[in-house]
Amino acid sequence: METRKKTARPALSVVSPCFNEEESLPELYRRVSAACREQVGDDYEIVLVDDGSSDASRTIIRDLAETDPHVVGVFLSRNYGHQIALTSGLHICRGDRTLIIDADLQDPPELLGDMIRLMDAGADVVYGKRTARQGESRFKRFSAGAFYRLLNRVIDIDIPTDTGDFRLMSRRSLDELNRMPEQHRFIRGMVSWLGFRQVPLEYVREKRFAGETKYPLRKMIHFAIDAIAGFSIVPLRLSVFLGLFCALIGAVFLVYTIHGYLVGNTIQGWTTTMTAVLVLGGGQLLMLGVIGEYLGRLYMQSKNRPLYIIQDIVRSDPDDPATAEKDSGRKSARARGKGVRKSAMLSGSH
Ligand code: UDP
Ligand code: MG
Repeated sequence: METRKKTARPALSVVSPCFNEEESLPELYRRVSAACREQVGDDYEIVLVDDGSSDASRTIIRDLAETDPHVVGVFLSRNYGHQIALTSGLHICRGDRTLIIDADLQDPPELLGDMIRLMDAGADVVYGKRTARQGESRFKRFSAGAFYRLLNRVIDIDIPTDTGDFRLMSRRSLDELNRMPEQHRFIRGMVSWLGFRQVPLEYVREKRFAGETKYPLRKMIHFAIDAIAGFSIVPLRLSVFLGLFCALIGAVFLVYTIHGYLVGNTIQGWTTTMTAVLVLGGGQLLMLGVIGEYLGRLYMQSKNRPLYIIQDIVRSDPDDPATAEKDSGRKSARARGKGVRKSAMLSGSH
């Protein structure tokens, strides 16, 4: 039996959102555990968030959480998406420092040591910066590159290019991040917004260990819209430019029309009229859409719903103060043995 220091706050937390990652999970657990042990000995926790998986991920995470006291299994009530799943893990983890890592092992856990050293030297956030991406389609690389360049043009804060959510965060920076209540979350941008001292660590992004990407084009587009609309109102200003542009063209047309009237040439002009109607109609619809997008966000946020619902949290560390405290009154030992399970419907309104 391992002897683990029972502190309310482990030195290190690792948070990983998992959606149908049955093939990667055992390897993730092995490599992350090894990296943690090497850096902080026994004083770590691994928070695995199951984002409503439909494969064996749930069982794997539950088994790990029941057998290894370092593992906390968080089971969301359905699939909420990467950013929200990650958010729930970040709310729950308690470490002095927190490593965010995808479950597919594209980002090597072995970089933890380098990240910790940079943080020892005074950084609050150490973010992984990809120098190369292996095994990702040309389309994905191109779209990601174009996206970050566009994003940085449009928004007011500087989001480093070629970064994902792979990063090590200090407790104070994470506490501040956790205070942000927005529903549409673009976490890497929100972390940039925090300020503090943020330093990059360059690395090569590897291929997925197993399985397919869980970010099909549809989710990528949603993600991009969240990023832009979450950090900028520039798209709303588009209408001003569009309006100016149309007014200019209108003025030219006016001269043309008056000229036509004077020379008695007024029957023609169907083409120009149609063009003007279509261009104006298109521009107006576009801007209505943009306004609708922001209005929709306002509406969703104003409902003040919790960001997610946790169906279950599993930890096998009954001496853990957090477990004991929240569990008082409804402690139910798991049939399979020492696992302690909390069935309270915790929700993530922060
Ligand atoms: N993920 C999640 N919920 C989702 C989609 C993805 O928790 O709805 C997790 C996924 O298991 C992985 C991480 O988010 O750990 C990043 O997803 P993926 O690797 O598919 O994205 P990519 O690296 O292709 O951008
Ligand atoms: Mg991936």
